[in-house]
Order: sequence, then structure tokens, then C-alpha cells
Amino acid sequence: MCGIALSYELRFLDTTLRDGEQAPGVSLSLDEKVAIARSLDALGVDVIEAGSAITSEGERKSMKAVANDGLEAEICSFVRVVASDVDAALDCDVDSVHLVVPASDLHIRIKMGSDRESVVRKAVEVTEYAVDHGLIVELSGEDASRADLDFLEDLYKAGVDAGARRLCFCDTVGVLTPEKAFQIFSRLSALPAPISIHCHNDFGMATANTVASLRAGAAQAHVTVNGIGERSGNASLEEVVMTLESLYGMDTGIKCEELYPLSRMVSRMMGVNVAANKSIVGENAFTHEAGIHVHGILADTSSYEPLKPESVGRKRRIVLGKHAGRSSVELALRDFRINTTEEQLNQIVQRVKELGDKGKRVTDADLQAIAETVLSTQKEPKVKLQQLTVVAGNTVTPTASIKLQVNGIEKLEAGTGTGPVDAAVNAARRAVCGVADVRLEEFHVDAITGGTDALVEVWVTMAIADRTITARGAGADIIMASVEAVLEGINRLMQLEEARTNG
Ligand code: MN
Repeated sequence: MCGIALSYELRFLDTTLRDGEQAPGVSLSLDEKVAIARSLDALGVDVIEAGSAITSEGERKSMKAVANDGLEAEICSFVRVVASDVDAALDCDVDSVHLVVPASDLHIRIKMGSDRESVVRKAVEVTEYAVDHGLIVELSGEDASRADLDFLEDLYKAGVDAGARRLCFCDTVGVLTPEKAFQIFSRLSALPAPISIHCHNDFGMATANTVASLRAGAAQAHVTVNGIGERSGNASLEEVVMTLESLYGMDTGIKCEELYPLSRMVSRMMGVNVAANKSIVGENAFTHEAGIHVHGILADTSSYEPLKPESVGRKRRIVLGKHAGRSSVELALRDFRINTTEEQLNQIVQRVKELGDKGKRVTDADLQAIAETVLSTQKEPKVKLQQLTVVAGNTVTPTASIKLQVNGIEKLEAGTGTGPVDAAVNAARRAVCGVADVRLEEFHVDAITGGTDALVEVWVTMAIADRTITARGAGADIIMASVEAVLEGINRLMQLEEARTNG
């Protein structure tokens, strides 16, 4: 793309709470919607599409709560070209409506059973109705990328005449290409109202298409956190923002260092994992394993990092595996305050590679255990499991009782949870409370084989204060594997704390 400077302020409409929530299996509670909206507002998006008011009573309650939360952003509802949709939006106290009008002949025929002229007439009618009731209207052409461009322009112009303040071009099925997007927006940016670009990611080009459209004159980007949305999702907020900031040197007005915390929050609340290799917010985006890369990173971070992890609120992570080199192992050991001779370091590196060769990712706890073996400083675990009982079923609250030895003292505790694993982990954490106030930051289960008797591997990330550690547990019993991983993490963290206080 040629470098056309933008002569106006770039705007973002975030639709995580509408198009994002339309992702399969996702449904947010009122509190969750409000929490995400607040974070989006703090991040600096201009418009929050909070949902589609016609959907349900629950949706309207949530949207009303968002609209009355005193946020700076404009709060918007999705509406179809139906007056009753606008009425539902009005019930929610929103500032604006995203009025979506079928624009391709295919959608006009299939969705509306109608023709171009009637669609324009209805769009005008509903736009006027919404404007008359005090709403800002963003008039959207649905399936615009497969629509006749001349017709689309007529539709947009009629909408602007009827009072629409903004327009939007929806690439509903993600078939746009960056070249096409640039061409189309070079033309549409001459329309009498600012126009948005709304892209889907069916071919993995949502970000590229969005950026190309903005470069050609689109005024606003529709995005979602983590690119979540129907099918392959929408243009991702973090990708579009960081592309503009880093590759085009633009100031988007977004608080970039809040991108990662928001990504985690949305993933947690929506129950949708982010792929490890997802740009910017994926687990591996700032993780290095290969020895040569780590060596480069240690010399100069820009050698293998196009972005500084801190710029999006993240930290660099070095993981160990079969590609680990001396530098990465040395770095990790230094982090654990473990000093070695050259010879010991070589031995540790070799054992790390052996474990990596078996297809294992080497956790922090693994590395500490290897180092202890090589240095022959095996430490007695501070926390030992003596007894665990878990009760679960369809009519009981999952409850666990646990007996631990903590620093030689017997501790008996009980805990409840949303399931047996949660109950057991809660009981374990209560038993060490006061001695080690650990947080469980991540919990991940892999079934290694297929059946209900599968061997499971549990990964945990745990923290005390600013110290984070990964540990693992494995076995055929998911509850025992989970407790094993958590206790291993607690033990390692306690050892590190001890090393820190001892200087
Ligand atoms: Mn969409």
C-alpha cells in the first residue's frame, strides 16, 4: 500500500460484546458485559457495540447497564432494518444504532425476499425513525463486498440524506482482499459521511483488509478483542492497533499496554482460548525456545522481537525444550538464583534437551529438579500430601478435605468449588495460606490419550507476589494430577522465596 497520510482522527468501534458474543457457545452475564465494556472504555475505543437489543430480555438488561455506566465511549446497539429493533435499542438507553441493511443481491433475496428498491426504501424509513428518536445512526451495508458498488453508493447516499451520521462496509463473509479493499475505499471515502470497515477473518485477511481500508480513507475500524466472532472471527483489535502503531508509525489513541490484560479477561469470561500462535496476544507471541534466538535476544531484544512485549502489557518468556541452548538455560537458572560451574551447566543443558527430546516442554519446576540433581542439593519438599478426599456428584457441592504437612506441621483444611478439581485446589491453597499465599494464574489440562481412562497432564502457572512459576502433574486421575501440579508449584515457589530471603 502506498503511504497515504490520514487527514482525520482514526476511530475504533469495538464489537466484542456483539459480533464477538455471536461466536459459537459464547454468552456473557450482565456483570461480565459491564466489566469488558469498562475495560474497552479505559483502553480508549470510541464506540462500544454492546449487543443486539432485540435478542432477549437478558441482553437488554446487560446493554442498559452498559449504557448507564457513565462510560466515555458511545454505546451502540446492532439493529436490523426493522422499527421494532430500534424500539428495543431505545429501551436500552444506547447512544447509537448500527443499522445493518442487506446490500448484496444474494442477501436481499435470501434474507429479505425483497428487491433493491424496497431495501433502500426500508433503510431510509428506519434511519429516519431512529434519528427522529434521537439516535446516532451508522448505516451498514451487509455483505457489501459481494454487492454491486453503484447500488451500494445509492444506498449509502439515501441513508445519509435520511440522517445517517456514519456508514459502514461489511465484509460479512471475509472475501475481501487488501488490494480490493484499497480500491473500494479510495472510491467510498468520497461519500458525504465517514465510513467504517467491518471485516471477517475467513481467509485470515481481516487485519490486512482493515488496515488497507483505513489507508485508503476508511474512518473507523470495527474490531473485536482476540479477533473473536462468528466462524473464523473478526478483525482483531490488538492486531489492527499494533499494525498501525508499529508498522505505520501512527498514533491510534489506544492504550496499547492494556491490550494483553484485556485479551486475557475476554478469553476467560467468554471461555474461548486464544491460539498459542495468535499474533500479539497468543501465549507464544513473546516466547522463545530456540537456543540461537535466545542468544540473539540476550544481546539485543530487537533481533527476534518485532515488538517490545511491554508495549502491549506483556513479558518476554524463555521456555526450555530440546532447542534450548546454554544461554537460555543459564538465563533461567540465574532467574532462580542457581549458580553453576561450566561443567554443571553443560550437564543441566544436556538433561533439559533429553527431556525436550521426549516431546516435553520443560517447566520451571522440571529445571529446578534437574539442577538440584546435578548440584546434588535435593531439597526436602516443604509441602507434602498426606490425605485427600473429594466428594462430587449431582446433588452435592463439590467438596474436598486435604491433609498436608507444611514445614513439618500437619494442616487439615476443606474447600468447595465449582467442580472436584476446583474444590481440591482450593483446599490445598487454604492449607498453605499464611505460609505461602499463592495465586493460581493458569490451569491447563491435556488428555494425552483418548478414552475416559486417558492419561492427563495438568499444567499450572502459579505466583507469589511478582514471582511466577510453571509446574506439571500427570496421571490417570485428573484430581490427583491437578493437586500434584499445584503442590509442586507451591513447593518450588516456597524454595524460591527462601532463596530470596536468604540473599
Ligand atoms: Mn460481522
